[in-house]
Amino acid sequence: AITNHMPTAELQALDSAHHMHPFTNGDELAAKGARVITRAKGVYLTDSEGVEILDGMAGLWCVNIGYGRDELAEVAARQMRELPYYNTFFQTTHVPAIALASKIAELAPGDLNHVFFAAGGSEANDTNIRMVRTYWDAKGKPDKKIIISRKNAYHGSSMGSASLGGMAGMHAQGGMPIPDIHHINQPDWWAEGGDMTPEAFGLARAQELEAAIQDLGEDRVAAFIAEPVQGAGGVIVAPDSYWPEIQRICDKYEILLIADEVITGFGRTGNWFGCQTLNIRPDIMTIAKGLSSGYQPVGGSVVSDEVAKTLGGVEFNHGYTYSGHPVAAAVALENLRILEEEGIVDRVRAETAPYLAEKWHSLGDHPLVGETRIVGMMASLALTPDKASRAKFASDPGTVGYICRERCFANNLIMRHVGDRMVISPPLVITKAEIDTLIDRARRALDECHAQLRERDLLKMAS
Ligand code: PLP
Repeated sequence: AITNHMPTAELQALDSAHHMHPFTNGDELAAKGARVITRAKGVYLTDSEGVEILDGMAGLWCVNIGYGRDELAEVAARQMRELPYYNTFFQTTHVPAIALASKIAELAPGDLNHVFFAAGGSEANDTNIRMVRTYWDAKGKPDKKIIISRKNAYHGSSMGSASLGGMAGMHAQGGMPIPDIHHINQPDWWAEGGDMTPEAFGLARAQELEAAIQDLGEDRVAAFIAEPVQGAGGVIVAPDSYWPEIQRICDKYEILLIADEVITGFGRTGNWFGCQTLNIRPDIMTIAKGLSSGYQPVGGSVVSDEVAKTLGGVEFNHGYTYSGHPVAAAVALENLRILEEEGIVDRVRAETAPYLAEKWHSLGDHPLVGETRIVGMMASLALTPDKASRAKFASDPGTVGYICRERCFANNLIMRHVGDRMVISPPLVITKAEIDTLIDRARRALDECHAQLRERDLLKMAS
């Protein structure tokens, strides 16, 4: 049998022989060998060599309550014994789905009171594409089909959700985007703001939505989708002027606003949802990740009374085998109980996020660090050869970020790179002492990265 007790090299060889990793060059990984993670507790992972690694990314932005909570394991086992599976197609239901949908409706702002379940964020965004088009059909406006999104957005990996996303590298593989998806520019002032003030730039980027609606035709645009804070694109926090203008435009032209809260939901920004932090009033929210803290694959679309009422008279021919899966639903419900009863979201807002912000901004004095950005428990820093001019490196984008990520890894810190930008999104239960450790390791990694760049003559600016 293949177990944790096998030598790491043997596990790595089997891994590269049979396991295809997402978003990974298989040949490169085979040459290097994947780090084998065997256990986790709190904010720490343990690898097959017994080394503890501080997980600055909460897995993939999802393990909000931290690793190793027995309560969730117990709920899963109990639910598996009682009712391991049943679906909610046609005319059946079960208590875990009822209870989870009710709890989400209670936590979600405004009249977002109805949940269509999926097994993750990609599936939920596929639901959204079909749902908003079906909504406008039901309203007698079948030409409203186009969904406007943003370049460099991430909304998932399926054909539909990756088409909504604006990642050029993803669109280049497999014939995307699908028809009737349109992308405007992202509000990334550091990278793209040029000589404009952040406020003027934020307004200009929001007004691209209005220009696109006018260009494509108000009667043809169904919805606008965006992450309240772009996550996978590099924790891009829009200037303050951006969201009020987006909200005004969606209201004016009767465009459904979809907030993709897959990362920003369930406490990540210091409120239950990112739209509360940013004062956005979405018609639909995409949720996943922190909904179950990653302990089970579950996601969904949370929709307003108006959208649900309009769809009420339609047989929406859509659903997944695992929509409302009872074990996933029971585990998610227990996760929400822990987030709420232990005051984790409140503690993030009042204590740990301000503490992390202070420490994170202190990295701004490092010679390699340009802008430091943070909202709640998601943060990024731009690596630059010259802060004053916000210069990019002369090397291929991502070369420096990759070196920095490797130095973090060597210092037993998981920090991700997006191009030449470093991002973190730690478990929400991280303590102040653990934040100190994270920052110490990050600074050490930055120093080592700087030394390597100097040695390899990579500190040159792009012309
Ligand atoms: N939407 C956003 C904002 C995400 O960050 C992600 C995943 O990172 C997704 C959707 C896709 O979710 P999943 O990987 O669960 O399909």
